[in-house]
Amino acid sequence: MNLVVALSGGVGGAKLALGLSRVLPEGALLVVANTGDDFEHLGLSISPDLDTLIYALAGLDNPETGWGRRDETWSFMAALAELGGETWFRLGDRDLATHVERTRRLRAGETLSAVTEDFRRRLGISARILPMSDDPVRTRLLTGEGWLDFQHWFVRRQCGPAVRGIAFAGAGQARPQPEVLAALSGGRVRAVVICPSNPLISVEPILAVPGLRAAIRGCGAPVVAVSPIIGGRAVKGPTAKMWRELLGEAPGAAAVARRYGDLLDGYVMDEADAVEAEGLRPRVALARTLMTTLAEREALARAALDLADSLRA
Ligand code: GDP
Repeated sequence: MNLVVALSGGVGGAKLALGLSRVLPEGALLVVANTGDDFEHLGLSISPDLDTLIYALAGLDNPETGWGRRDETWSFMAALAELGGETWFRLGDRDLATHVERTRRLRAGETLSAVTEDFRRRLGISARILPMSDDPVRTRLLTGEGWLDFQHWFVRRQCGPAVRGIAFAGAGQARPQPEVLAALSGGRVRAVVICPSNPLISVEPILAVPGLRAAIRGCGAPVVAVSPIIGGRAVKGPTAKMWRELLGEAPGAAAVARRYGDLLDGYVMDEADAVEAEGLRPRVALARTLMTTLAEREALARAALDLADSLRA
């Protein structure tokens, strides 16, 4: 009973994943990453959430942008622009090495899991980081302009077109990452933590991989989510905008818990949202959920684990 399985998207998820990695003993954390944001660009296989997690847990993340690597240079992008290449998706020089090497290994027949495992080991990360599936799943958004691939909507169009629908193309055929499934069925899970990631496009693609939701529910450990919404607002990114457009209601911490439904045993909400806790089915713990400092990441990780342990007891 010592393994913590965390479900994560990119920025918000990686903050809590880092906190978990620092408060848990070595070998006790497995992070399952969303790959619905993955795409092929300039001939490269890009996995934004996996990379955000790897960079954050290795201490290589860029605190200014929230994506990419710190101490980045941009010679490649400048040279690409000179040649009239596509520059809407920014790839720094150091970051580029990740995509080039991943693409080479995938073409040589390695799985995305194997590549990710090797990268995280080489960068000194002790937590395991695995994609939800080695099969391609691609998030697509139905907008007033028709269906858009996720990164085209998110980066190229800067989340502008209103979202009317979401599809996870390929999810129906995707097989869950085998080690994730084995970990969930091995009887040694202490807690499943759903990180404060965008429920609609970071967590739900993971849950859409056939078998994963059932395996999480069936693993015998408490499932605890941390709210990505604080005081009715997303800390960063399009969660609130999408929520309003797609669901026709204001986003709220309680609304997120209701969306996860019977998956949750526990829910960590911000102290600012205490009034919303009333009537929620999962057991609620109130905490300060804004993670600006490392200490705040660790404190929130402890709050989520404490809630899970109290549910087990
Ligand atoms: P993406 O894949 O890069 O969009 O990242 P995620 O889906 O993992 O994270 C986006 C979500 O993280 C947004 O809904 C934010 O509100 C949430 N988020 C970001 N920082 C924080 C934080 O410090 N605390 C909490 N509670 N949520 C956060």
